[in-house]
Formats: sequence, C-alpha cells, structure tokens
Amino acid sequence: MAEHPAGIKAESWLVSAGRASEPGAPLNVPLVPASNFIIGGGREYSRDDGTPTWEALEDLVGGLETGRGVAFASGMAAIAAVFDQLTAGAVVVLPDDCYQGVAGLAAAGAEKGRWSVERVAVDDTQGWIGACARADLVWLESPSNPLLTVADLHAICAAARKPGCIVAVDGTLATPLNQCPLAFGATVSLQSATKFIGGHSDLLAGVASTRDEALWRALRKSRELSGATPGTLEAFLALRGARTLALRLQRAQQTAMLLAERLERHPQVALVRYPGLASHPTHAVAQRVLAGFGTIISFDLHGGAGVADSVCRNTLLIRHATSLGAVESTMERRAAIPGQEHLPPSLLRLSVGIEDAEDLWSDLDRAIRAASA
Ligand SMILES: *Cc1c(COP(=O)(O)O)cnc(C)c1O
Repeated sequence: MAEHPAGIKAESWLVSAGRASEPGAPLNVPLVPASNFIIGGGREYSRDDGTPTWEALEDLVGGLETGRGVAFASGMAAIAAVFDQLTAGAVVVLPDDCYQGVAGLAAAGAEKGRWSVERVAVDDTQGWIGACARADLVWLESPSNPLLTVADLHAICAAARKPGCIVAVDGTLATPLNQCPLAFGATVSLQSATKFIGGHSDLLAGVASTRDEALWRALRKSRELSGATPGTLEAFLALRGARTLALRLQRAQQTAMLLAERLERHPQVALVRYPGLASHPTHAVAQRVLAGFGTIISFDLHGGAGVADSVCRNTLLIRHATSLGAVESTMERRAAIPGQEHLPPSLLRLSVGIEDAEDLWSDLDRAIRAASA
C-alpha cells in the first residue's frame, strides 16, 4: 500500500486526514454550509473558492492518490471536467468495456463534432500503446465495469507520456487503496466517491486528482464555470464514510474471493469473472497492478435472463439494486439496463458488502437453486 505525503500508511491517513489539532477545535471536520465568506480571508464565494468541508475531502482523497484533489457533485461531474479540457477535434480513446455514463458522454460529444472516439479492448496493451500516439485523451477504466478486465496500467501509462496528452484512469472499482494510477504515470485519477469512498449509498460525489498543477487549476476552473460543486452534506458524509474505507474494503474483498471460488464450482453457474481467480483472463496483470482484487463479481448463469432475473428477486440479504461499493451487498442483471444489451443476458453483477460471508453464500446459493429448479 502506498505511503502518503504525511509519511504514514493509507489506512492511517484515511482516519487522520483533515482533523484539527488546536486545543478546543472540533475533532471532526465541521460541516460548513456556506455560499459566501467575509471578504479579505482569501475565500469569498464557495463555487469559486471552495469550502473547508470540500477541501477536507479533497485533501483526504488527493493524499491517497498521491496528488491534489478537486471534489465534484458526482463521479460524472469530475469526469465531464476532464473531457472539458479537450480542444476542438481532439481524439479520445476509450475502453471497449466502460462505465456507461462515460461512453454516453463521449458519444454525445462526438455526435456534436467536438471530438472523435476510438475504442480499444481493455486487455489489448499493444492496442493502447499504438492508440496513445494519436490520442489527446487516453481514458482508462480498470478494473472495467462490469466485465472486470484489468488493464496493464504500468505499460500503458508509460507509453502514453506525450506532452499535451491527458492519461485519465477511472479507478472507482479499485479504490485508491488497491491501485494508485498517478504513481504509474497517469495524469489524472478519477473516483466516484458515491461508491467505495462514501460507502453507504447515501450520497453522490466525485474526486479528480492530479500532480499536474496546471491541470489542477483547470479542473477547479471547470468546476467554477459549470457549477458542478459538491454538496456540503455530501462532502461531510463522504469524509465520514472514508474513515472506514480500509476496513470495509478488506472485509468485503475477503468475502468476494470466497464467494467467487464457490460460484465457480456451482453447477448452475456458467462463468465467473473475478480478477482474483486464477481462471480470470487478466489475473496475472491484476496480481501486478492491484493491491487487492476488489469486491465486485460478475457471473453468468445457465438458463439465461429469466433465471438471472429470478435470482435477483429471490435473494433476501443481497438487495436487488444498482450501484456498488457500499456496506450492503447489491446485485443486478446488467443487460436489463437500457444501452447495456450487448452484455451476456444472464450476467449478474454482485457488489459484495460487509455482511457475514456464510450468510451471503447461503442467500446466493438458495436463490440460484430456487431459480434453476
Ligand atoms: C458510478 C461510476 C461512475 C459515475 O459516478 P457517479 O458518482 O454516479 O456520477 C463512474 N465510473 C465508474 C467506474 C462508476 O462505477
């Protein structure tokens, strides 16, 4: 796990970042609901200058990422601010398996003639290295969502180092604890704090982090002009959630490994995708690039979409809901989502939470058996 600017481990930084030390100061970062401040203190209007609550979240996530953070209203707002850096006619290279919001944003801009888009398979390292030579924005997402393919970030980030080319990594599924894109040479690292950092399915927020001072300023400017500022309560809750990120992740990824191994042996399961399994196509890359294999499992069932829908309806502990990275386990059939019909029809994406592992397994096994009977 990466060391942090303060010379402490990530787990300690998560707990200590942003806390005051002066006698009488509140131990926790205060929730500061403010649009404006008394002039003369360097902070006048929050959309331009930020607030102490947003800054505490930026320091915490930016520190984990070994860069400087800018907090946004959502993960997509942070991502849109990176695309906002492109000049007319730019070339954007996207993974073939990619968060649907990012694919949608790229397609919408291409339709308006703002940029052109190329797609490269997540695991086609040579394809990425080739595309980097032509690209203005190299957009990587790893592990990818929902197929959980792991990109060789070491090799690709090194090859993409070209002046003026932004190499962006959406590492939401890995969290900054399992993967540090800036250390591999990425220009900017994105987190949807809605997911693991918040961790309780009760907020939307995003953070973009970079070591490039000019890009940091440009992202701040983009937030100021678009108004995509984080909510104060959301920033407060994201900070509170982040305090337990290391514990939640450790616990849930231990359970995810166990569930993935058992699912792989289940007679009603056709295929399991989890980067921690030796059978996973990018397992070797995952071992090199990731400090942990994460909490998301995608698996296909024998019997098609109907059986998969029935499994989702029949679990009790595992809630039938979208999103991922929270304390509670959730599961959904991804091909049921408009625009995701290209995915295997019976693919279920399971986000493993912090419940008891055996309880989760019983729930899953019972629902699969009932649906397949
Ligand atoms: C959820 C998610 C996003 C978008 O984040 P929001 O906070 O929902 O806007 C982007 N990338 C990945 C990989 C995600 O899982």
